[in-house]
Amino acid sequence: KLSDRLGGVFDRLRGRGALNETDVREAMREVRVALLEADVALPVAREFVDKVTEQAVGQSVLKSVTPGQQVVKIVNDALVEMLGSDASELNLAVAPPAIIMMVGLQGSGKTTTTAKIAKLLKEKERKKVLMASLDVNRPAAQEQLATLGTQVDIATLPIVAGQQPVDIAKRAMQAAKLQGFDVLMLDTAGRLHVDQQLMDEMKAVANVSTPQEILLVVDSLTGQDAVNVAQNFSEQVDLTGVVLTRMDGDARGGAALSMRAVTGKPIKFAGVGEKMDAIEAFHPERVAGRILGMGDVVGLVERAAQVVDQEESEKLAAKMAKGQFDLNDLRAQLRQMTKMGGLGALAGMMPGMKKAKAAMQAGGMDDKILVRMDAIIGSMTPKEREKPALLNAKRKIRVANGSGTTVQDVNRLLKMHQEMESAMKRIKKMGGLKGLAALFG
Ligand code: GDP
Ligand code: MG
Repeated sequence: KLSDRLGGVFDRLRGRGALNETDVREAMREVRVALLEADVALPVAREFVDKVTEQAVGQSVLKSVTPGQQVVKIVNDALVEMLGSDASELNLAVAPPAIIMMVGLQGSGKTTTTAKIAKLLKEKERKKVLMASLDVNRPAAQEQLATLGTQVDIATLPIVAGQQPVDIAKRAMQAAKLQGFDVLMLDTAGRLHVDQQLMDEMKAVANVSTPQEILLVVDSLTGQDAVNVAQNFSEQVDLTGVVLTRMDGDARGGAALSMRAVTGKPIKFAGVGEKMDAIEAFHPERVAGRILGMGDVVGLVERAAQVVDQEESEKLAAKMAKGQFDLNDLRAQLRQMTKMGGLGALAGMMPGMKKAKAAMQAGGMDDKILVRMDAIIGSMTPKEREKPALLNAKRKIRVANGSGTTVQDVNRLLKMHQEMESAMKRIKKMGGLKGLAALFG
């Protein structure tokens, strides 16, 4: 496990303020091995490590975690970002029938995934779907799709013996158009390895059918070969996305990163079993966790980051206690509240807050208000934020217009600020925050 191996490196890195290059490089060597063990293709692993090294050097290390742990968190976040920064929905917004073409190596799960997606579209989006198998190479491949079609109650194109893929595609398009189908799914043939005849056939089908979506289906157990597969397919046709199958198995998920890096296309679905409903949206966090195998460390660093937030709010509290509490401070406080999960989460965390929460809700106070108040303060000039008394009627109108709120909203915010400010002054008289803590004791 990566965590064991990194242990030694981590210990040596302990107790420094910022990540220096030597530390990061040492930790990254282990990360690279972990990526390779998770079946990330070598060139992809190398490039990823270089990029993240650059990002990590110089970043400050949170109190209460080790530099090595901090590196793992940085790696994790970079993985998540790389795996899933794009929208992953199917784009079927065209005059029907929208065509989805499935490509990939033989045995990757194209036929199974075709039926799974068809079922999903029927049930979730009420689409009328037609499926057609263009696989004339494998005996009984077309029958396989027909059988699945019966199972999930999706129409399949009648089989005509001896027809070639391009002709089957044309016949399918005509049938879909005439019979009013919303979506046509073309399941293509695969070979055991990438070969030119397969590629030519696939290109010809893509040319006659101009699909909205061309999905590359990849077995997540595909290891170092993933780069070749992805490169070959994406050079021949305009892929729109990737489907990773067999994510239910013990694959470490490295293929996902390779696919994403080489094709630049989003991973749209994950296949998680042989059953027809074993398909789900792709979850970058889960896969990053699998690749690194260090979910515990990531959680630890996230909690440490919360502590930093807490220290910040204590600093703010000290400022407030001195009676220095302007609208900038209020805004920081609002953002902190939003970050911590809004009013509801806060109420759940603090003793005695349940009643306060009910009162806030009764008064129409909800999390949207936090956002609105932030916008109001955002529309003020820096001077106004420091000295709210400057806000006369004319300025209030400007602020309300700028933030898409009303003068009433602006007034409410100013009143709240005043109340908080005077509460702070009262607290100060009672002996500061320690006195307040004693009250709640
Ligand atoms: P094709 O040659 O690309 O059309 O592959 P098939 O759709 O025929 O699938 C090959 C085998 O993989 C079948 O036995 C499927 O049941 C199985 N399969 C496909 N997707 C998954 C998946 O997500 N998980 C598991 N466990 N098996 C899958
Ligand atoms: Mg097939």
